[in-house]
Amino acid sequence: MYLIRMRPEQLQDAVSRNVPVLLPAGVVEYHGPHLPIGTDFLIANAVCEEVERRCECVLGPSLPLGPTMSWAAGPEDGEIDFEPEAFYHYVREALKRIAMMGFGRIYVLQHHQGDEGLQCLCLRRAAMELVRDTGTAWGPGYGRKDEHDWPNPAMFRRIIVAHIDSYSQYPSPEAERIPIGHGGRGETQLIMAALPETVRMAALETLAERPRWLRDADDARADEGRRWIEFCVRGWVEELTRADEG
Ligand SMILES: [Zn+2]
Repeated sequence: MYLIRMRPEQLQDAVSRNVPVLLPAGVVEYHGPHLPIGTDFLIANAVCEEVERRCECVLGPSLPLGPTMSWAAGPEDGEIDFEPEAFYHYVREALKRIAMMGFGRIYVLQHHQGDEGLQCLCLRRAAMELVRDTGTAWGPGYGRKDEHDWPNPAMFRRIIVAHIDSYSQYPSPEAERIPIGHGGRGETQLIMAALPETVRMAALETLAERPRWLRDADDARADEGRRWIEFCVRGWVEELTRADEG
């Protein structure tokens, strides 16, 4: 169910049943000539959409733009290096207004540069500042009271920023991790699985010389992409369902 397609009574019903909200976040940047420029966002969005088909959740507004540092190319090749401070203010406001609707479990499923990337840091800063605002509104020293007396005992877990495989169970610490890279085998096969019509492998031939990160792109296989998307989706469904019980 998409947030903006809901009527007020559906919204209030979802809030009363503590249904989680899921926002896909990624960036628009060059991923080689064979992949769409929205690859990162499209991967996050594909996982969110499949999760929504499998368990009850609300799909919040998309966050497809973020800081890329123009690492891979310039704007003429599709790079949108969104200003971090502007992004932070936008997402802080978006998350704040969704929280004000009454939603108690808000997740951002983010795909680009991982935990230390600027987009993730901006999102986490926005989330934690909203937690701070909530706490300080209860008066200084609220942490000395019994946690169960807080107006919202789950306040520190109210807005969570996580990645596509954050809740997936790897069979062992030595097990193969989901291959990501940038435009190489990992992301190419995820897009082959999610949006095959956007991929044009022959376009790689137009490059006189491939950057290091594109060298394994030919090893991408759609069935491997589907396997990894399934791995990610299962973890998210488990998280959203588990939290629902708690
Ligand atoms: Zn990427």
